[in-house]
Amino acid sequence: MDTRRAPLLAGFMCDTRDAEVPDANPIKVTNPFDGSLVGFAPDLGADELKARIDALCSGQTGWAARTAGDRAGRLKAWHAAVLEREEELARLVTLEAGKPLAEARAEVRYAAAYIEWFAEEARRTYGEVIPGPWPGARLMTVRQPVGVVAAITPWNFPLAMITRKVAPALAAGCSVVLKPAEETPLSAMALQELALEAGIPGTVYTTFTSRDAAMFGDIVCDSPRIAKLTFTGSTRIGSLLLGKCAPTVKRVSLELGGNAPFIVFDDADLDAAVDGFVKAKFRNAGQTCVSPNRLLVQSGASSRFLERLMARLAGLRLGNGLAEGTDLGPLIAGSARSRLEALIEDARALGAQILRPCEGETATVMGPAIVLGATPDMRVVREEIFGPLIPLLTFAGEAEALQMANATDAGLAAYVYTRDQARVWRMSEGIEAGMIGINTGAISTEVAPFGGVKQSGLGREGGRQGMDDYLEIKYLAVSH
Ligand code: ADP
Repeated sequence: MDTRRAPLLAGFMCDTRDAEVPDANPIKVTNPFDGSLVGFAPDLGADELKARIDALCSGQTGWAARTAGDRAGRLKAWHAAVLEREEELARLVTLEAGKPLAEARAEVRYAAAYIEWFAEEARRTYGEVIPGPWPGARLMTVRQPVGVVAAITPWNFPLAMITRKVAPALAAGCSVVLKPAEETPLSAMALQELALEAGIPGTVYTTFTSRDAAMFGDIVCDSPRIAKLTFTGSTRIGSLLLGKCAPTVKRVSLELGGNAPFIVFDDADLDAAVDGFVKAKFRNAGQTCVSPNRLLVQSGASSRFLERLMARLAGLRLGNGLAEGTDLGPLIAGSARSRLEALIEDARALGAQILRPCEGETATVMGPAIVLGATPDMRVVREEIFGPLIPLLTFAGEAEALQMANATDAGLAAYVYTRDQARVWRMSEGIEAGMIGINTGAISTEVAPFGGVKQSGLGREGGRQGMDDYLEIKYLAVSH
């Protein structure tokens, strides 16, 4: 951290706060590890939101009129500012979301990478010239910003879920109002502060913190002036918001829940499979939408795989995310813990055996629990877990693995480990998911399109495709 600079969020963090409170009853942000107070965020209301939408409508016109190079330059300055503050931002993420510092640092770089990627893409929003169907006709397309965007983000990646929406919106020439999760508003406010420093005006990108998520959803969905809603969160709320956007025929992008199968064939490199599984499963204590939800292992390899998995899990260090070396931090809230315990009880009642290979649990940090003998009727197999539970199911052959993998309404990520190249293609083509990791547990990157099929969502974020959701195609027919 550059010590000559003022710390981020002065006045909102507990340790830098002066006597001034941002409003009479601010949102209190607490550390999920020990419940201590981290800072405050304003609890903004409906009138403020309407005023900001007014400002964004006029701001958008001027922003879109700038050259793509100008917008790209400001995004690059934002990217540099985020990287300069890596340590400070990482600490903030750990304080309000609980994830280990090493993961928080990786998230800062990941979040910054989206800004850089879309700064680069800003200058490549090409149209095309179409061979005319009539004599003398010249046909072409241009791509233009959709208009004012509303973005709603979750708490599990308090920075990256924002930049992968806000950066392409700004690059395309849209203005955007962002509502972060109320558990993690401070990271969002810090990003906003750095964007302002980088020359991105508040009338183009504004962060709206509020306890009343439904009020925000209702106002932006009802407003004909909001051209697009982009949402990352639960399938239940995403589906509700999609319905609310119908009357105004809004453009909608949704990144919703997953139920990822992690499939290990008996010809796989089992050490690599265990390694890939543990890395994918325990990122943010299992609280990611691409986290492997169901572990499917071919019968012939299941006891060898389980033995290696148990040994690997026993080495995980549980604890405070702020302590260097922690692998597994706290769950976001006590309610998450109770939900996971209920999933375990349901599995046990239906005949599963629970293995807990790891020492060091605390009231807020839950260790891994393997659900042996899991079956498709168990909640832990049917529902998105969002925590460190591992239902282990076995299959006999490829056809059964494919049928099990697709037996869900979700279709976000899937993982396949095998050394058989022909099987790689059959499984990749047969699995109903938007993203497939083949002999890898790491799939998320700014350069590739992230998104789901079936009830896991609409649209793609990141990659070349990540700009498309923020651009309309306009077709011009010219005659002379
Ligand atoms: P999670 O289980 O990850 O908290 P949610 O879907 O409840 O998932 O929350 C994701 C985001 O959606 C958060 O920013 C939350 O405040 C917001 N949200 C929750 N309910 C609504 C709603 N009715 N309208 C608009 N946004 C909502």
